[in-house]
Amino acid sequence: MPYDLILKNARLADGRDGIDIAIANGCIAAIGRRLTGDGESIDAGGRFVSPGLVESHFHLDKARILDRCAPPKDRKATDHMKRTAAAKHTFTEEDVYARASATLEQCLLNGVTHMRTHVEVDPNVELRGYTAIERLAKDYAWAIDLELCVFLQEGWTNVEGAEANVVDALKRGATVVGGAPKYDTDGPAQIRRIFALAKEYDVDVDIHLDGGHTADDLDIFQVMELTDKMGWGGRVAIGHGSKYSCLPPDELAALGRRLAGSGVAVSVLPATDMFNVGRHMEHSVIRGVADANALIAQGATCSIATNNIMNPFTPFGDCSLVRIANLYANVVQRGTEEELTDCFSMLTDRAARIMRRKDYGIATGNPADLVVWNAKTPAEVVATVTPPVMGFKRGRQIFEREIAELKRP
Ligand SMILES: [Zn+2]
Repeated sequence: MPYDLILKNARLADGRDGIDIAIANGCIAAIGRRLTGDGESIDAGGRFVSPGLVESHFHLDKARILDRCAPPKDRKATDHMKRTAAAKHTFTEEDVYARASATLEQCLLNGVTHMRTHVEVDPNVELRGYTAIERLAKDYAWAIDLELCVFLQEGWTNVEGAEANVVDALKRGATVVGGAPKYDTDGPAQIRRIFALAKEYDVDVDIHLDGGHTADDLDIFQVMELTDKMGWGGRVAIGHGSKYSCLPPDELAALGRRLAGSGVAVSVLPATDMFNVGRHMEHSVIRGVADANALIAQGATCSIATNNIMNPFTPFGDCSLVRIANLYANVVQRGTEEELTDCFSMLTDRAARIMRRKDYGIATGNPADLVVWNAKTPAEVVATVTPPVMGFKRGRQIFEREIAELKRP
């Protein structure tokens, strides 16, 4: 058979061993044992092979800015947004591109092949960040499918002229519209504007929502009502949802069922939420990480995502999405094989649903976006934070990592 490449001896998530994945024209052409054909072959060595990771919530435009806004010495400080905003006038197109590309390359080396990145177009940055990320998406199309979610971080209905920037980006092709109603003087009005634009431009919705340390005043109900009313089920996601960590189990389960019914997804952002939530407390500090395993048990779509690195909201990180899943599992105290397998699915197929990727996964006909892990199972990947050893985008190998070996005497 005229294959371009055969990835030999893979172990798949369903436990099948010794599987060959044949690739032709960037897509998976055959999956089976002892496949033969033309072209190169690469030995996966019996390791676990997964589809590429999906980073469903990131902010490439404001990554790596700690040199301009270091974390405050007072841990009670919660003005991350203000300190970030104060640095935004320094965001030139070239500056955003340089920081974003360095960050994106690190994500690629950690196995990410799809990403939704939120891009802010507040009046203090206008479309400079958007222009840079738009160019980045084109330049790195060989390695990643990058989806742009345009939004206003610093207020919308109370900032005259700000919406025009969102509209400009939508006209230029942004496929998702987002928001941050927490920073609006009228949060519910912002949410209504987001949905109105989603309808007008036929785009998906992804809103920063329900951050906080109590279960009071949840905005998710308004989002689910608008989703139902507009028939936008499957096209709406929210990021954070820290407040859901404050719900008793029966109310959390009820929320999960409601989310599933409306087709509203939740991206949990454990690194950011742990760094920010509960700063008003001096001891027994709450963690603010929603238990996505409890939500998916009710049929909701959830993902685990990084949000950012080296930024006032999220000052740490190496762009390892697997490390974020491991952090999440520690915080929500999930550790069985099944639970960790679900964690991995929230970096892969469940996250791909948020991005509405129907061509995702290891199946004949899908793009050959593959990652080889130095592990046997998805649960082991999450448990051990093992780095990927190889990655492929549309059948082309894009990286290889040597497994470290001791130099014995
Ligand atoms: Zn975010």
